Amino acid sequence: MNGIGNMAWLGAATLFILSLRGLSHPASARRGNLYGVLGMGLAVLATLLVTAGAGLQIALIAAVAGGGIGATLAKRVEMTQMPQLVAVLHSFVGLAATLISIANYMSGTVAANPVEQAIHDTEIYVGAFIGTVTFSGSIVAFLKLQGTLSGKPLVLPARHLLNAVVLAACIALGYRFVSSPAAGDGLYALLVMCVLAAALGVHLVMAIGGADMPVVVSMLNSYSGWAAAATGFMLDNDLLVTTGALVGSSGAILSYIMCRAMNRSFVSVILGGFGTVAATSGAAPEGEVVATTVDEVGALLRDASEVVIVPGYGMAVAQAQGTISEITRRLRSLGIRVRFGIHPVAGRLPGHMNVLLAEAKVPYDIVLEMDEINEDFTNTDVVLVIGANDIVNPGAQEDASSPIAGMPVLEVWKARTVVVSKRSMATGYAGVDNPLFYKDNTRMLFGDAKGSVDALLRHIEAA
Ligand code: NDP
Repeated sequence: MNGIGNMAWLGAATLFILSLRGLSHPASARRGNLYGVLGMGLAVLATLLVTAGAGLQIALIAAVAGGGIGATLAKRVEMTQMPQLVAVLHSFVGLAATLISIANYMSGTVAANPVEQAIHDTEIYVGAFIGTVTFSGSIVAFLKLQGTLSGKPLVLPARHLLNAVVLAACIALGYRFVSSPAAGDGLYALLVMCVLAAALGVHLVMAIGGADMPVVVSMLNSYSGWAAAATGFMLDNDLLVTTGALVGSSGAILSYIMCRAMNRSFVSVILGGFGTVAATSGAAPEGEVVATTVDEVGALLRDASEVVIVPGYGMAVAQAQGTISEITRRLRSLGIRVRFGIHPVAGRLPGHMNVLLAEAKVPYDIVLEMDEINEDFTNTDVVLVIGANDIVNPGAQEDASSPIAGMPVLEVWKARTVVVSKRSMATGYAGVDNPLFYKDNTRMLFGDAKGSVDALLRHIEAA
């Protein structure tokens, strides 16, 4: 690596750090994204420049083909399918780490002395292990997010013992791999470990229930970073080490924050739901469901002085954020205080609702986190729940047998009136009934959220 290459890589690493900093707030997120794009562009360019000979042609073809496919897919994908796309991208990072590790081993690089050789072989082995767990785990996460696989946790008997045995076998194979004198022997151990690690990745993610999936997605993000960092050590590539460590640690921090927000143990989720018991589907809710109309909701809103809007996944599906932004503007111009309550796992991506509301030009200062708004519901006249379900489920607090028991939720039922806009009585992602819909102060506004809020806006405009 020459001096210019090193400078370029240092510049790229700095841009990645600035990118993470920018992404920490909606107001600077666009700039953060731009830094990330520039950093990656610089990294790819520097890599191509330092790749000499025939390798350059192959790298160029791969970069153009990969970039083209990536750009087309990202352009086509709906916002609601983003989590699946992210899961697939994590699986690619994992697969790349595994393939590079195997290829590197097969190329038979010989280190200067036995100690260096052992370190190099350990890097290969660790890279392949984390890469394979990330790859297979991400594929299962993709299938679960896509709805192809059920969101229910798979609880095998003695599953933790099973994980421990597989892990022990991988460690034993690792010892054999590092200490094997003949390359053929080592390859055998490496490939068997990859099969075991793939099974481990599948099992770890299969054991996690629907409502805990956000943590799994950010955890796999973190794993993909560590896999890249291990590959960086193996290839002696400082930029890959730095970038991998940035992704790995920021993903781990995000997972930790999400675990705290969901009242789950970080270690328990990493170990595939360790310590969680197979939950029952929860008690059937009691009470009556009362349907309402757009006219009634319009009147309720106009008479209110404090309104809180709680958006959920259904708002993203219906693409109702633009109209909701307009309703907010109208109500505020009537002197009504309107705020938004955002649950940390609302939608299907961390920050999903914040992105949609920012896109729809809802001012940031009226968009509050769950902890900031939960105490205010008792003084709220009307809560408008738009396509949200699990995040406003009182069963999480009231029913210990519920699969989402213990998860903090937005306590919307404490408001004077709650209006829920959704199409039917169907459950949310976690597949649990919601007692909120049966409460005396809840009114159900049935129908597609976009159709409902469009009609609501017309009503408010006409009044
Ligand atoms: P939910 O999935 O709990 O509920 C969404 C509701 O929206 C459904 O009950 C559905 O009811 C309704 N809906 C769907 N389409 C429409 C539409 N067009 N118009 C109106 N309503 C609609 O979403 P929440 O946001 O409340 O909770 C998020 C869930 O997703 C949590 O369980 C979370 O753990 C999980 N999750 C979150 C991730 C994240 O990172 N944020 C990642 C992976 C999972 P109906 O069919 O009756 O209309």
